[in-house]
Amino acid sequence: MQNIYYQTKIVATMGPASGNKETLKAMINAGLNVCRINFSHGTLQDHQKIIDTIRSLNKELKTNVGILADLQGPKIRIGLVKEGGIVLTNNNFINITTNECVGDESQIYISYLQIPWDVKPNEIILLDDGKIQLKVISTNKKDLVKCQVIHGGILTSRKGVNLPNTKVSIPSLTEEDLTNLDFALKNEIDWIGLSFVRNAIDVDFLKHIISNKGKNAKVVAKIEKPEAVENIDEIIAISDAVMVARGDLGVEIPMENVPLVQKSIINKCRAAAKPVIVATQMIESMITSPRPTRAEVNDVANSVLDGADAVMVSGETSVGEFPVEVIQTLTKIIGNVETHGYDYYRTPGNEISTQGDLNKALCTSAVGLAKATGARAIAVMTQTGLSALELSKHRPKSKIFVFTANRSLLNAFSLVWGVKAFFYDKLESTDQSIADVNRILKNAGLIEPGEVVINTATAPLIELGKTNLLKVSVLD
Ligand code: ATP
Ligand code: MG
Ligand code: MG
Repeated sequence: MQNIYYQTKIVATMGPASGNKETLKAMINAGLNVCRINFSHGTLQDHQKIIDTIRSLNKELKTNVGILADLQGPKIRIGLVKEGGIVLTNNNFINITTNECVGDESQIYISYLQIPWDVKPNEIILLDDGKIQLKVISTNKKDLVKCQVIHGGILTSRKGVNLPNTKVSIPSLTEEDLTNLDFALKNEIDWIGLSFVRNAIDVDFLKHIISNKGKNAKVVAKIEKPEAVENIDEIIAISDAVMVARGDLGVEIPMENVPLVQKSIINKCRAAAKPVIVATQMIESMITSPRPTRAEVNDVANSVLDGADAVMVSGETSVGEFPVEVIQTLTKIIGNVETHGYDYYRTPGNEISTQGDLNKALCTSAVGLAKATGARAIAVMTQTGLSALELSKHRPKSKIFVFTANRSLLNAFSLVWGVKAFFYDKLESTDQSIADVNRILKNAGLIEPGEVVINTATAPLIELGKTNLLKVSVLD
């Protein structure tokens, strides 16, 4: 069992810096909740090794570390460049070719065959989340675009390409995505991330493929396009979770709009009881430094205060020099904000209506009762997980312990704010199962004698109906 446990969750991208078992073990012990595999980088063989390592550590450490597998979607990328990366110098010229090659200072390969037809002179091409900027000088409308470097820098393999002035037409799931999806589903991955979502149809399409294959994987919609921001309500409604993917988002919309978009998406997700992840450049400087900048510490703390379910790191843990220190740093920031940063509910101004929904009303009451009694925890028995999401959206100080016989929820819930899940499949009487649950929590050292627990349950349990009961227990 993880000994450090705060309510805001930590997602970390896996890669060469974190795939080793000892490193990953130290990261989990430092508070890592969900491992992200990015299909944009590495081979399926690499990913398989990491998945196997996570699974074996879950057994060894008795943890429920979840896995998020990120499909790259209609993302344009450069190809491989020579070892160590290439240096692009301001004002120099560089060719973009659609003929596959290993890139150097004179030419780079881009995987989008249409690019010589789509771009026009003077248009801007952005590389690596906008860090490098090129200007189109000319195109041969066949396989070559000549560019000038406006803002240079070091460019490494497979970095993303954004064409802010250009309309691109690639389907939301490419052939490569479908192969990767198949791999993820065969591996029973908990969460599938979908990049460059535009509308509810993109998400619906993926969900259909998953359910047609008889799988339970849940979908995280990555919000990184202006269309997605416009269609955010329908996207939240259909998705199982949402990611504020600030890397591409800050290139596709003006970057100064991102902070308010982040707050708005978090509020909407909370109201809809859908988990929301804040991602990209959270403590980016820790790729090469053992300590983050003060601005980065503020960014993480503010994301926690905004009410995010999880904060995510990318290069910091996939290729960075300090993957364990990254998780320790996030845990310290989260812990401090959660301990001292707010009173009971996360954002009290955000009234949540129950609209006559019995389950919502019961969960709202459970949270109110927990506050009034100073309860250490709310323990919930659930089959679908809906009650747990409903409780979580209130962001109470009390921990949320979920007891479920639905195995597919155990690791998936590692992404959800405040929730820790336990497998429980006994069909005792309601009284007995409540006593049982409280005993399990006490034995695990999660609740001390004399502390209050609010139990939600179904009576009679045997009918496996909807949650209809609240009980205040004082542990003896
Ligand atoms: P996305 O838009 O999906 O976030 P990304 O290219 O920004 O894609 P991240 O997962 O955010 O990728 O990781 C940041 C950087 O870390 C990548 O651009 C890449 O250079 C490096 N990286 C990530 N995962 C791996 C990996 N498995 N192997 C090698 N490098 C990786
Ligand atoms: Mg990224
Ligand atoms: Mg992205």
